[in-house]
Amino acid sequence: MAPHGIPHPEYTPKQPPRPRNAGALSPDTGLVAAIAAQLARLWPDAVVELDHENAYQLLVATILAAQSTDKLVNTVTPAVFAKYPDPVALARADQVELEAMIFSTGFYRMKARHLIAMAQRIVEHHGGEVPETMVGLVDLPGVARKTANVVLGSAFGINEGVVVDTHVSRLAPRLGLTAQTDPVKIEQDLMQLVPRDQWSIFAHRLIWHGRRVCHAKQPDCEHCPLAPLCPSAALVATPRLMPPRLGKPAPPSRAARARAAASRSSREPRT
Ligand code: SF4
Repeated sequence: MAPHGIPHPEYTPKQPPRPRNAGALSPDTGLVAAIAAQLARLWPDAVVELDHENAYQLLVATILAAQSTDKLVNTVTPAVFAKYPDPVALARADQVELEAMIFSTGFYRMKARHLIAMAQRIVEHHGGEVPETMVGLVDLPGVARKTANVVLGSAFGINEGVVVDTHVSRLAPRLGLTAQTDPVKIEQDLMQLVPRDQWSIFAHRLIWHGRRVCHAKQPDCEHCPLAPLCPSAALVATPRLMPPRLGKPAPPSRAARARAAASRSSREPRT
């Protein structure tokens, strides 16, 4: 049994995995399907981790989550939702009062300004209801594709795009799913590779994997069930080969050093 109690999928790559930056990537569809299947086994119930009860609350929470953490945002939003239960109430909010409530999430002045302007736009142009289209959402102050994708996928069940946050931006290249660094281009690559009905859940599973296993600085490749499918697993174990923007890897573990020593000694000629 593999780490985390998850059996490795039976998958034989048609080509050996290529390291990142080896040119334009074109991962074969079998590999992408195997990665998606393994993520589904690992994180079957992955969902957005921002507490919310409706689309309005999720929209507010997602705007607050920029440059912050879901955990911190979840400590702030109960009071915000109690004081401003709908876009009409938020549209009339006093900016200084709102700033004080959301201060701990960072960038509080800009976020407060965006939240109030966003609510005013919803009241004036959408009858007080959060729009259910990409065009309508990205027209709101403070809302770009990532936030719109979160709301469309998790509040309305609409697969209009793939959420590309800091975790997806890190994991997609590590897994060889894109050679891009720009979130819009990463999203385009993922939309080409992943079936549309999986866009939302696939992103959430990547995010969960990024938060729990494939950390930015110390990815736990040794215990990662995706390692047999991941072209970066070998690179992480060999720091000198790792592209700089994948992050500084952790030093090899004691077990990895022992395996390397055993491998070296088995190759040495017997005397
Ligand atoms: S093998 Fe390592 S780099 Fe690849 S997904 Fe797992 S933790 Fe991340």
